[in-house]
Amino acid sequence: MIRIEASKYINAMDKANPPVETAKSGDIIQFVTKDCFGGQIQSEDQVMESLDWSEINPATGPLYVQDAKAGDVLKVEILDIEIADKGVMIDGGGEGVMGKLICEATTRILPIKDGKVIFNDKLAFPVNPMIGVIGTAPKGEGIPTGTPGDHGSNMDCTKIRKGATVYLPVNVEGALLAIGDLHALMGDGEVGVCGVETDGCVTVKITVLKDCKLPTPFIVDEKHAISVYSAETADEACEGATINMFKCLMNELKMTDHEAEMLLSVVGNVCICQIVDPEKTARMEVPMSVFEAYGYQFA
Ligand code: CA
Ligand code: ZN
Repeated sequence: MIRIEASKYINAMDKANPPVETAKSGDIIQFVTKDCFGGQIQSEDQVMESLDWSEINPATGPLYVQDAKAGDVLKVEILDIEIADKGVMIDGGGEGVMGKLICEATTRILPIKDGKVIFNDKLAFPVNPMIGVIGTAPKGEGIPTGTPGDHGSNMDCTKIRKGATVYLPVNVEGALLAIGDLHALMGDGEVGVCGVETDGCVTVKITVLKDCKLPTPFIVDEKHAISVYSAETADEACEGATINMFKCLMNELKMTDHEAEMLLSVVGNVCICQIVDPEKTARMEVPMSVFEAYGYQFA
């Protein structure tokens, strides 16, 4: 199995980044990842101002995938997510939804014990390990790993967890897949600007799809098919995710436009992924039973 260490990371998804490993379709790869602060926070005395922001959001990689050509889709099955025994959070300091209400920046290190995040002496929550950053190189200029987009990256989507499959666009030869920013737990919205940020290791299986018309980024899990969209505002992100799923229902299930729209209006759920990054991210979830009823199988 190919294993990429956390020391091999990028801070922008960029076609100019030299690949650190090469894999072929069907390979299983481990990405060892640093937390979104690049491991800079080791004590609660360290505040936001002391951080080197050029080292924020490291994504391990990039991985060059043989035979991945522009126009293909890279299928990434999340086989496993291991997380560390502690997580880091920051808040205030102008960041996040409450940034203007909480001037002072605070740092917390949260223990993770027996599968639970210890929040305080009254509250502990079961972990829900997820991947914040997973993406491929965009076609044009490089994009910092803090910014999500059509190429995936910092989508901060709680559905990108073990057992899910993520479909990403191949914009440049080799795709240049990179993964980072694991969260032990995060609420939809990520309103305070971070989840329980943790080091870890992600095991994925990659497959190059040559004739896949799914709107990317796209996620399939046990219960839902999910289109993901990032835009300048949450409104635009919600609309983009909805329209992508609308097109998917017509393309893949051959629904009429009226049928697809009505279906989305009755069983499609628009959900927020995050509203704190440079671009906001939303998703449209449709129950898997809809695709099953049509005998549709995801590639
Ligand atoms: Ca993130
Ligand atoms: Zn994060």
